[in-house]
Amino acid sequence: MSKLNIPMVDLKGQYQSLKKEIDNGIQDVLNATSFILGPNVQALEKEVADYCGVKHAIGVASGTDALHLALLAADIGPGDEVITSPFTFIATAEAIAYVGAKPVFVDINPDTFNIDPDLIEAAITDKTKAVMPVHMFGQSVDMDPIAAICKKHELKIIEDCAQSFGAEYGGKKSGAYGDLGCFSFFPSKNLGAFGDGGMVITNDDTMADNVRMYRNHGSKVRYYHSCIGYNSRLDEMQAVILRVKLKHIDEFNSNRYKNAQAYTNKLKDSGITAPFEDGKGTHVYHQYTIMHDKRDAIHQALTDRGIASAIYYPVPLHRQEVFAEDYKNISLPNAEAVSERVVSLPMFPELIQEQIQQIMDTVLSAI
Ligand SMILES: *Cc1c(COP(=O)(O)O)cnc(C)c1O
Repeated sequence: MSKLNIPMVDLKGQYQSLKKEIDNGIQDVLNATSFILGPNVQALEKEVADYCGVKHAIGVASGTDALHLALLAADIGPGDEVITSPFTFIATAEAIAYVGAKPVFVDINPDTFNIDPDLIEAAITDKTKAVMPVHMFGQSVDMDPIAAICKKHELKIIEDCAQSFGAEYGGKKSGAYGDLGCFSFFPSKNLGAFGDGGMVITNDDTMADNVRMYRNHGSKVRYYHSCIGYNSRLDEMQAVILRVKLKHIDEFNSNRYKNAQAYTNKLKDSGITAPFEDGKGTHVYHQYTIMHDKRDAIHQALTDRGIASAIYYPVPLHRQEVFAEDYKNISLPNAEAVSERVVSLPMFPELIQEQIQQIMDTVLSAI
């Protein structure tokens, strides 16, 4: 069989389809030479706030920084505990550690890959300050039960929406449900820049002011500094690119959804577990992640055929070297079991039927 060349995400294809608008935007930024916190960052903040239906959106340097600055803005610090998922990218827990707080990992629902709301209350102590749900692979976490628990125990909700831009739950956009929502614009995310970028959204005026202060050297008024802040600003060049892509995000996400359906149709009766939609919120398929005991064979067959695939995530966070010692006495069986069985397939709006067929033929031939 001939070797194919199918990537996880086709950034070249997407650039080609938007080239004129993006190139013009970049040229405008070069002509204006207003590179830091310029008019495009301001405009993008307004456009994302409108899209998400919130009062404030604050551009920052990355998704990791969005989480970090959101935790600072919510006044979470040393001695505090933040409940989150063990089945996520390391940045979720890193941000909690940056502020001196402790990540408390609560096991996931193995069908949705999201934190299991039923297990949260048992993990709350008098040090718990917040819950940080992660909308894994683009499917919204079931937020209502989490909100009820957080209300009862007076905890903040800080959403990690790095993978779920545009997803919805209860009529609200991802990130707009909690106290703060944190986006990543890493190039491969559903709304991706051409470099690093991130954003925090909130309806709270004080926390929005805090994020603005922390991203810009602890300063509310230029050259007057109220606290030790950071240099964490979204770049004007990234903002102009993101403004072009934001206009197309619903179409991108709906094409991802169609591609996911096409995959799932071909997996019927195959013995491979397709992604499960719980119907509580929507799914924007940042990743299309299947499960099977022969995951390594599937991964290998795809590699041999020239088709990209990836294991998100091979090791849950409580078993990562950096955390292993501190969490050696806990076991989170669902996260541990799922890590052994998952493999994510190419997923991007521009994927075509012929590629979906080739990918599925290869997947099915491996089991
Ligand atoms: C990508 C990602 C982040 C970090 O975003 P960066 O922009 O790469 O810093 C955080 N959390 C999750 C779940 C992610 O997927």
